[in-house]
Amino acid sequence: MKYKPADRIQDLQYFGEFGGVNPSISDSSTYTFLSAKTMFDTFEGNAEGCYLYSRHSSPSNLYLGEALAAMEGTEAANVAASGMGAITAALLQLCNAGDHIVCSRTVYGGTYAFLKNFAPKFGIETTFVDVTNPELVEAAVQKNTKVIYCESVSNPLLEIADLEILSRISKVHDLKLVVDNTFSPLSITPIKLGADVVIHSLTKFINGSSDTVGGVVCGTKEFINDLRNVNDGAAMLLGPTMDSFRAASILKNLRTLHIRMKQHSHNAMYLAKKFQEDGFKTVYPGLKSHSGHETFRRMMNESYGFGGMLTIDVGSLDKANELMELMQERNLGYLAVSLGFYKTLFSAPGTSTSSEIPIEEQKEMGLSDGLIRFSIGLDNDIARTYEMMKECMVKVGVLNTELV
Ligand code: PLP
Repeated sequence: MKYKPADRIQDLQYFGEFGGVNPSISDSSTYTFLSAKTMFDTFEGNAEGCYLYSRHSSPSNLYLGEALAAMEGTEAANVAASGMGAITAALLQLCNAGDHIVCSRTVYGGTYAFLKNFAPKFGIETTFVDVTNPELVEAAVQKNTKVIYCESVSNPLLEIADLEILSRISKVHDLKLVVDNTFSPLSITPIKLGADVVIHSLTKFINGSSDTVGGVVCGTKEFINDLRNVNDGAAMLLGPTMDSFRAASILKNLRTLHIRMKQHSHNAMYLAKKFQEDGFKTVYPGLKSHSGHETFRRMMNESYGFGGMLTIDVGSLDKANELMELMQERNLGYLAVSLGFYKTLFSAPGTSTSSEIPIEEQKEMGLSDGLIRFSIGLDNDIARTYEMMKECMVKVGVLNTELV
């Protein structure tokens, strides 16, 4: 499959008001109309190109949405103030009270908490399954199921969803396949594999500078218009609106995403191989030992690699904490949640980003105490970084150099 998402972003050309090389930022919450009739038509959704009020849409948000839709190969996109703002709006738009969702059991903790604890308040129930097992997914589908939800590369276990198989199941049962592609921008294009809606937390790789939260829903024009509908659109009525200044700065960062992803992937592959050779239980989709390696290979847009996320297991939470604190002290990265930064970030997901998931369920899905999730940074010399990490591992006693 030759899909070149970075070229599609590059081909978009925007100019500022006075010929600036970046589009002008729309610094207004409301917009004037030359005629009252056009204002009425805009409320009715019939005045293309007119702006009404910035919770509905704004030029800066539309520019960013257009670029992200180009990247994901969808007709349209709606940006949101956060990834959760995108996820919750999309799911509440697709489901009514009495509906049911089949969701991957390994998803971001906030998504899990929303579906498990919050959505039931509105009569939306969810069954969590291992989406790498299509039989379990199919068996979980009920008469009232509306959505299959998964992450292409799951947080934090890095399981790979076979989007082609999930899309086949969703088509047979007339469901929508909604895919969170936060961990694999550019590398995987879910729409080309049969997804209906693609979501990102822009907070991560896409923005890449850990200075803001943001999100996006990519889909058909019809679905994106539904989200923005003034009468019953979840994005319009719940109000998770991105500020124009942020939209403008994320658009500028998007221009370098392809270069960053290649470097994240290169560095992560190097470290994953080394950690595996050192005897750590290492999970990285680029390793042949990863159960989803072949699936990722089949789905990927090759030149961007297998992404910047990897996990290792160092045996216990105490050891994981000791190692992360020492690596931070040596300036090898930050002990922080989130991902996609120029600097390596590490955290123990069981006690941080996945702490919403009950301990028994964490165990069942293979989320162990000693697991460290790394978002590998853009280090110039990754071999040097590895040597310094190795020293830390030896010092805290999780690596015996004599055995290596
Ligand atoms: N999806 C994934 C895979 C995530 O990792 C996160 C956050 O960590 C989110 C969604 C939520 O995004 P945000 O924090 O921008 O609301």
